[in-house]
Amino acid sequence: MHIARILEASADRFPGHEALIYEERRWTYREWLDRVRRFAQALSDLGVRPGDRVAFYVSTSENSVTTFFACQFLGAVAVPMNFRLSPGEAAYILKDSGARVLVYGRALTPNALAIAEEVHSVHDFIGCAYDRKNIPQGHHHFDGLIEQSPDRGEPRPVPTGDAISSLVYTSGTTGRPKGVIHTHANDIAIAMNCVMEYSLRHDDRALHIAPLYHVGGMQAYFIPHLLVGGTNVVIGRYEAARTLQTIAAERITTLFAVPTQIQEMLFHADFAKFNVSSLRLVTTGGAAISSSTMERVMAEFCPSIFNGYGMTEASLTLMLHPEDALRKLGSCGKSTLISECRIITNDPSREVPPDEQVRRGSIGQLIVRGPQAMIGYWNKPFETQKKLKAGWVYTEDLFSQDQDGFYYFHGRSDDLIISGGENIYPREVEDILYRCPGVQQAAVIGLSDAKWGQIVAAFVVRSDPNLDAATLDAHARESRDLASYKRPKRYQFLDALPTNPSGKVLKRELIAQYDLAPLKQPAQG
Ligand code: ATP
Ligand code: MG
Repeated sequence: MHIARILEASADRFPGHEALIYEERRWTYREWLDRVRRFAQALSDLGVRPGDRVAFYVSTSENSVTTFFACQFLGAVAVPMNFRLSPGEAAYILKDSGARVLVYGRALTPNALAIAEEVHSVHDFIGCAYDRKNIPQGHHHFDGLIEQSPDRGEPRPVPTGDAISSLVYTSGTTGRPKGVIHTHANDIAIAMNCVMEYSLRHDDRALHIAPLYHVGGMQAYFIPHLLVGGTNVVIGRYEAARTLQTIAAERITTLFAVPTQIQEMLFHADFAKFNVSSLRLVTTGGAAISSSTMERVMAEFCPSIFNGYGMTEASLTLMLHPEDALRKLGSCGKSTLISECRIITNDPSREVPPDEQVRRGSIGQLIVRGPQAMIGYWNKPFETQKKLKAGWVYTEDLFSQDQDGFYYFHGRSDDLIISGGENIYPREVEDILYRCPGVQQAAVIGLSDAKWGQIVAAFVVRSDPNLDAATLDAHARESRDLASYKRPKRYQFLDALPTNPSGKVLKRELIAQYDLAPLKQPAQG
């Protein structure tokens, strides 16, 4: 089976049902399918053939999802790009993927023009949201192409399950983004898994504020709603008040938001004024969410919250369901139906085989396999070999499992702090700091220290300007859950934490700026 079939099947079963809503525009399944097929025809007329890469560099919009699905009708490979990337970062992905078409948003025109100078493998540029007459010379017009390209019903190749559907680039938190190869079979497994995890229904209405250029937004959220013939509502630029307003106006039933977006909505001054009672579930993931935020969501936003853990390479791997959310606060739940998970010894200095599992309760590296696991990175045999061994994806994330089998995230293995020979997991220190009133965001890292090897340092964005280091230190001391050696020895207040274009905190930048004598972290014994 291939992904285009998902759209065809839903259009067949629910032709008059609303499929997609974007800003002021609405398409039924029949209408959107026609639009997607026309755009596929246009791409085909431009010379796009099976296996060719089509990149899109446009804000979360109808254009991005239409491009993604048009590629699937052609057997072409969709390359979603984060619209916040700089021209240089975008050029890197275009060169790495060897894309021949670039679909770009009007706001990104200067970047697209700079890219055209630098990346010569791109043959065709397609601008979105343009007045026809203002389109840069030599570029195509997205809507214009669709209007001129009736679906001629030409026979199309039917991709097999192992054909590549997309290259999804990782967030670039630990280095340059890597292109993860997704096949049709991967994406269908992910979508079906999510339908089951969330018990999605035909009458569900999803709101998309999380990036559609990540697996979490597209494969694990947009496509599952399409699979059940539900309605996908897309808003261009995320903004807390607008999101809350759209939930009320569109009677949204399911919302996926990354932890920072949830924080922003909860902290919004008018939060209580919006009617969000239509929500039947909120799901989060992509980064750690603090336990106190989970509690607030359940009390004030939506009682049904899911916390999913996943990564581009292995998609949704673990899921904490609402019925366990309070009882297992801080956990990422259990493995999803299609994911087989293990925790193995964490030892970056050697190759640890998949059967070297740690004792229940101990911390180690999570590995995962299943039909959603990537087949490799694009153009990166060395990195693929490191990350994928005998079908297992080595996540390089540290986890433990409690006596009931629930998984707990302790941080990326790179972020582990070793102070005076003791392992300290930033996540648990951050969780304590988040419980201190006046803390909006917190990031904990290790800084080199002559005596201890590393010391714990906390970087805090405060919502209360009067919050000071002494108050935070007193809070940490009073916490029963934080041993004294784990307490931050240094606090630094910042206006904002450095983040990558996906909004994830870049600890490596904090280290580069604040660590005066970076030491190579010793291997953990
Ligand atoms: P790169 O691989 O390029 O350095 P990245 O790892 O941030 O970037 P993604 O694949 O987008 O790229 O993110 C996956 C990572 O996000 C996971 O490996 C994990 O560290 C983190 N993560 C995802 N979900 C959760 C969650 N629910 N709780 C904590 N961390 C999470
Ligand atoms: Mg990663």
